[in-house]
Amino acid sequence: MSDELFNLFNNNPNLVSFCPVCNQKFHSLQATVISEKKNGYLMHVYCRKCQASLLTLISADNSGINSVGLITDLAPNEVKKFYGNLPICDDDILSIHQLLAQKKVLIDKL
Ligand SMILES: [Zn+2]
Repeated sequence: MSDELFNLFNNNPNLVSFCPVCNQKFHSLQATVISEKKNGYLMHVYCRKCQASLLTLISADNSGINSVGLITDLAPNEVKKFYGNLPICDDDILSIHQLLAQKKVLIDKL
């Protein structure tokens, strides 16, 4: 991550710079970049004081720099693991149901 973003993150009061749970100021070393794109970053921020985690999307466009935060219980590696995966659809649920039903038949035969 560039030093420019770290400076923005620490000095801009409009960005998520405080823990929403305990109001502790986030230190830049607690932030992990999950995804970096042309106009924004998805970051995982961990509060060492209360151990809350926050996913924050920081984006820049013609209107300025914006951030949106979401409290999560995921660790950075877990976010990276699931980031970009397709959502679960109805067919996925039906396939799992059919698989489990088949396994139950096999188990019942034992
Ligand atoms: Zn906190």
